[in-house]
Amino acid sequence: SQLDTLDIVVLVALLLGTIAYFTKGTYWAIAKDPYGNSLALANGHKNTGRTRNFLEKMDETGKNCIVFYGSQTGTAEDYANRLAKEGHSRFGLDTMVADLEDYDFDNLDLVPEDKVVFYILATYGEGEPTDNAVDFYEFVTTEEPAFSEGQSPEEKPLAKLKFVAFGLGNNTYEHYNSMVRNVNTALEKCGATRIGEAGEGDDGAGTMEEDFLAWKEPMWASLAETMNLEEREAVYEPTFEITERSDLTIEDDTVYVGEPNKNHLEGKSQGPYNAANPYIAPIVESKELFHDPQRNCLHMEIDIGNTNLKYTTGDHIAVWPTNAGMEVDRFLKVLGLYEKRNNVITVKGTDPTARVPFPSPTTYDAIVRYHMEICAPVSRQFVSQIAPFAPTEEIKKSMTALGSDKDLFHKEVADWSLNIAQLLETQSKGTAWPAAPFSLFIEGLNKIQPRYYSISSSSHAQPTKVAITAVVESMHKPKAPHVLKGVTTNYLLALKQKQHGEANPDPHGLNYELNGPRNKYDGIHVPVHIRHSNFKLPSDPAKPIIMVGPGTGVAPFRAFVQERAALAREGQTVGKTILFFGCRKQSEDFLYADEWKQYAADLGDNFEMHTAFSRDGPKKVYVQHKITEQAKAINDLLLKRAYFYVCGDAANMARDVNTLLGKIISEQRGWPESKGEEEVKRMRASNQYQEDVW
Ligand code: FAD
Repeated sequence: SQLDTLDIVVLVALLLGTIAYFTKGTYWAIAKDPYGNSLALANGHKNTGRTRNFLEKMDETGKNCIVFYGSQTGTAEDYANRLAKEGHSRFGLDTMVADLEDYDFDNLDLVPEDKVVFYILATYGEGEPTDNAVDFYEFVTTEEPAFSEGQSPEEKPLAKLKFVAFGLGNNTYEHYNSMVRNVNTALEKCGATRIGEAGEGDDGAGTMEEDFLAWKEPMWASLAETMNLEEREAVYEPTFEITERSDLTIEDDTVYVGEPNKNHLEGKSQGPYNAANPYIAPIVESKELFHDPQRNCLHMEIDIGNTNLKYTTGDHIAVWPTNAGMEVDRFLKVLGLYEKRNNVITVKGTDPTARVPFPSPTTYDAIVRYHMEICAPVSRQFVSQIAPFAPTEEIKKSMTALGSDKDLFHKEVADWSLNIAQLLETQSKGTAWPAAPFSLFIEGLNKIQPRYYSISSSSHAQPTKVAITAVVESMHKPKAPHVLKGVTTNYLLALKQKQHGEANPDPHGLNYELNGPRNKYDGIHVPVHIRHSNFKLPSDPAKPIIMVGPGTGVAPFRAFVQERAALAREGQTVGKTILFFGCRKQSEDFLYADEWKQYAADLGDNFEMHTAFSRDGPKKVYVQHKITEQAKAINDLLLKRAYFYVCGDAANMARDVNTLLGKIISEQRGWPESKGEEEVKRMRASNQYQEDVW
């Protein structure tokens, strides 16, 4: 029989697909990082032919040191940048920074002896790799990674590889720094040689920066010895070249005034929406949940109906913040850029491997407002780097002292919770720092990070509307001269105020630009994307569940209960649904107090809510007490394979609950305590115990 046209079209398509599949990585690369690509395009770099072979890239650009990062919140990426910069300025290494996601690793066995590879690796959640490190991690930790030369009987495959490793972790999680530990073991097993210690920074103890600083000095010393490097006087060389563009104004439609990428600039925002490309979503409802004039907690409903965005119950939504106008002004003033804030500039890497973390041409205002984390705590190393650019010798001396003395730094900067502009302002008593190069701040400050929220609605009950439950961060630290305001939550609060027609939506004079770049966020919009999570209800609703979620930890459990109530209304069999909730006072911060009654009506006796109010009576009552009271019932349900969920504060509550559950199991079953602990571990491994903590 003859092939008709359609058959031929299909066959050709299949053939092309097959060729594409087998040549992947050789002739083309999957655009995994649309943000990077759109940035590259915006900056005039061509995206075609970007290699996934890092050795080729190093050779092409004359590098002998590559610093890979596995980063979720930007800190590992920042450390990678800092190490690359320091390696170059102090030791003359030719360094480049690279996202693990952008390269393949089957050629690790071909790294020659005169080159070195750094791994700066954050551990995420339950000992998992960060999103951008998943493929790398799977590759190196398999039993026998398939390196290009294959296994040779005489020599281990990575016998020539020299590497440096630092991990970012949190000791309140069980799998503390497991990424760096496991990668280190895997590389050593294949014969690679580590230079210096495998460093471990601990966010849980709040010592990340100091751990990093303490680790890197001896590491540099061993690296210098191994590679025969001579330390030289470090001279600052800007990574980015900033060119004033008098030929352009902010009115020109090629100028980025805060748009996250090219599509947004061209006004055709389209999916896929992800960490590189937000959806400018309408907020369809917003309200406050606390009856407490001192504190705010927001409930917001975000509409994703007109998009291909999907979520399932238990996922997270990421909100892309805008910095407060007050802080943007402070920053621009202290750098002497206030008058020039709307001048158009082009920002380009001075080295082909340097990535500009935002699109350009743009303005100082747009960079500072939409792309830089200007309110975060200041790093001590950064203080030393800015010192030489101080407006007077006296200030330079005082900055140098702060940068080199850990205790002094803590007393005068960290304990006061200063952000970078506040520090510069305090040091110079308000005088500007015009000599400080803007490039230094692009290098030294993090790219602004989206903040994640556990979605508090059920995708079954409301598939096109995502709910957020967020407590507005406002902290008065004992020694701080000012109240510390969370960037994103105060931005959301301002949006809520605008939605409710409050004349001047301006919490605490923060003055957010609520209309967004070119008024694109007008009418109560916020940029978001969705991140899928493994925090999931059992697929069979008849299975019993136990949830522990004090404070905003209740967010995903509102979703879980909403889902089970909807299923019950539809006539499905729903199992026992037990929720432990805690807050300060029943009359002030009992989240969704009225809704639970409706869910109880839908679920009948199968719904049980145990509440703990810590400030309502003479004795402080926490969820832990309520769990202990229900020990027998909990154990009975666990024996019926109930799922156990914990959400909220990682540092204290989640850890306590984990320990408590082990105790309950051992007491109820007459087991030794260690066996109870083992049982909780087993439950974690089989997903019967799930955490969503932050
Ligand atoms: P930020 O500006 O990020 O500040 C946060 C804190 O950092 C401050 O309170 C302060 O302690 C510290 N800090 C900031 N600047 C300084 C400084 N200059 N000096 C010293 N310290 C400083 N939150 C919710 O309310 N509800 C949720 O459902 C929820 N779910 C989450 C789920 C996940 C998976 C994760 C990772 C987090 C979740 N969070 C949730 C937390 C949320 O992502 C944000 O961290 C939180 O809302 C604060 O964001 P922010 O931008 O307002 O504050």
